[in-house]
Amino acid sequence: MTRRQALVLSLGGSVAAQVSDPARAPQGKTRSQRRPTAPPQDSLVRWSPRPVFNGAPVLFESKSFSGLATWLGKKIEFRPDGDAFSALAGVNLNRAPGRYPLALGDETVDITVIRRVYASSTITVPQKFVEPPKEVQAQIDEEVAIKQNVFNSSGPNRLWHGPFVAPANNPCTSSFGLRRIYNGRTQNVHQGLDYTAALGTQVTAANSGRVEIARDMYFEGGFIVIDHGESIFTLYMHLSEFLVREGVGIDKGDPIAKSGSSGRVTGPHLHFAVRWQGDYLEPSTLLGLWRSGRA
Ligand SMILES: [Zn+2]
Repeated sequence: MTRRQALVLSLGGSVAAQVSDPARAPQGKTRSQRRPTAPPQDSLVRWSPRPVFNGAPVLFESKSFSGLATWLGKKIEFRPDGDAFSALAGVNLNRAPGRYPLALGDETVDITVIRRVYASSTITVPQKFVEPPKEVQAQIDEEVAIKQNVFNSSGPNRLWHGPFVAPANNPCTSSFGLRRIYNGRTQNVHQGLDYTAALGTQVTAANSGRVEIARDMYFEGGFIVIDHGESIFTLYMHLSEFLVREGVGIDKGDPIAKSGSSGRVTGPHLHFAVRWQGDYLEPSTLLGLWRSGRA
């Protein structure tokens, strides 16, 4: 894979250029391994985005297949969705490019994953967020345990329905996948999408589900986690005010909080993240899956 083939993100988070080599990028071409005389695989399953890339959430849809399927070592379930069946899946940010078979019953469809290259940037935050003082370590450990417990106990039922929607009507300033160097030292990957949001901007639920976390945490500040079922979560950070409590059911678009600047931040904004079966996925692609993917 050369740099030319990569989808390059600018530091500002917008797509700067998409340069691909048509000779080598199959753009999601499929083939049947079991039934060579079958109609084109697109009639069995369709997916979005195309092409699929590392870090992408993926929406699979089928007119005819329902039930359990396997992709990238993870189980997904095609469930009724309008007049078809759908399943949400995702590709870990570190997944190598290649062809990965989606197993649906007796059928196998190869899904091509291309490589997206993510940019890096430096960022400066208060030093206590790079080297937390000893006295807060127990608190941080406890918060890690709370999050793990929530992430490990998603209900089996699908609580989300239809498109995921943006949690704020604001522009985005920093994109998912950016490698960040905090205060010239600690490095990690930005696992969400940042929305410009003046203090007190209304934050709404990206889809229906259940509020599992609504509390202050050390790094996240005011923090909400919504379980949408099927191990799909949305996370909202740096909030200044909660409008919902833990344990309540929530509908898509319901107000859940006011934005703020709490936790590990450089200033007021909303951090929005999407977690699926343990992987953080690119939120902006999730929000666009239903716009572009139903061709
Ligand atoms: Zn962020």
